[in-house]
Amino acid sequence: MTDVVTMEKIVSLCKRRGFIFPSSEIYGGVGSTYDYGHYGVLLKTNVKGEWWRAMLQDRDDVVALDSAIIQHPRVWEASGHLAGFTDPLVDCRTCKQRFRADHLDQLPCGQKPSKHAGEGPDCDLTEARDFNLMFETTVGPVKESGATVYLRPETAQGIFINFKNVLQFSRRKPPFGIAQIGKSFRNEITPGNFVFRTREFEQMEMEFFVPPAESQRWFEHWLAERERWYVELGIRPDHLRLRAHDADELSHYSSGTSDVEYLFPIGWSELEGIANRGDFDLSRHAEHANEKLEYVDTATRERYVPHVIEPAAGADRATLAFLVDAYDEEQVEGETRTLLRLHPKLAPVKVAVMPLVRKDGQPEVAREIYADLRKRMQAEYDEGGSIGKRYRRQDEIGTPWGVTVDHQTLEDRTVTLRDRDTLEQVRVPIDGLGDELERRLRAPWTTPKLAAA
Ligand code: ATP
Repeated sequence: MTDVVTMEKIVSLCKRRGFIFPSSEIYGGVGSTYDYGHYGVLLKTNVKGEWWRAMLQDRDDVVALDSAIIQHPRVWEASGHLAGFTDPLVDCRTCKQRFRADHLDQLPCGQKPSKHAGEGPDCDLTEARDFNLMFETTVGPVKESGATVYLRPETAQGIFINFKNVLQFSRRKPPFGIAQIGKSFRNEITPGNFVFRTREFEQMEMEFFVPPAESQRWFEHWLAERERWYVELGIRPDHLRLRAHDADELSHYSSGTSDVEYLFPIGWSELEGIANRGDFDLSRHAEHANEKLEYVDTATRERYVPHVIEPAAGADRATLAFLVDAYDEEQVEGETRTLLRLHPKLAPVKVAVMPLVRKDGQPEVAREIYADLRKRMQAEYDEGGSIGKRYRRQDEIGTPWGVTVDHQTLEDRTVTLRDRDTLEQVRVPIDGLGDELERRLRAPWTTPKLAAA
């Protein structure tokens, strides 16, 4: 079965239902910058919440951190970003557009979009030159005298520079990890594909510090863990793969990197990178800051610089992957039903409570149920428009359950409980409804798209 999803359909649904829209639209927009609306915020918050859960709640060897976006400029000298965080840039003398030289085969020519950049009859590309991706700004009230600083291009360095603090105050010893979620900024030459590549994005990164001899074992542990995370949250396993970097792709600091890739409508693309970074980062900061960044075992007096395994994911890219994987269309009674088959844990709204009609005491009972359920989970009350229209709206935002109050409810205090995926409707008593929904929310879930494939 071919997947009905396209990037255009995702962009359109996101706009239509208030997940994500182009930023600064009233001023004509700024390229590749997006704002998240209500349901987008709820969805991305759930993605990040599930990441925190996997990192912190389900384990006892990872602690949390929230470091500053603007750090000492020497951080970026030590990390190698100032000298080497570059992409190769080419200009076209004909169309005046700029392209990432290593992505030419994916980018349309500025004059003849049916051709790739560089392949059009009039393309006239310059030699590639290195372009640093870090955004620069100045601190202090006077621009001239202010020091140049950078918006962080990754959250990871904030973790390394706090290694000593965390080691001291968290009473941990390797193997242990420090996890952080936050915004990063990269002046990408060619952003695009909706929120897949933007200049401002959120990262979910964890640096796991281990005794050097254990690094390979932990690298493999995190490859398996991170792949499992996506699958447990509903991503179809046949749309997910681990791809090991070839030797010539590896960063200078890495002895092994694998990407978790997802089969987006644009093809297999990176969701997350998992790298064995050795002692590169701690050693570099130790050298540049003239600080000892090592672990000393108080019992054995053994001292060493821990090696680091880093799973680095993008919250926006993951959100996009969950949206793409969830998007579905099916024919129901001659009409196309569009829906997001999101894992209930990720769904922005878990339950919608609706009176069948806006009279006969039904809205009052529905509001009572809503008031009760919202204490337990994200719920929504919806009484506007026909019931069919309301269901369609909830389907499109991915709400897994709908509770409908009808005339029978007033007689026997039962409601219909509708399942988004199967469309099954069962009558259940109002008492115990919250427990039943919580039970369903906790239950393992696999996407019906798998069975249909
Ligand atoms: P790419 O090769 O796609 O540029 P990368 O290998 O440079 O990505 P990393 O530095 O490993 O990316 O960053 C970790 C994660 O952060 C990526 O896997 C991705 O999910 C996310 N990410 C990186 N750059 C962007 C971006 N410009 N927009 C959205 N997410 C991003």
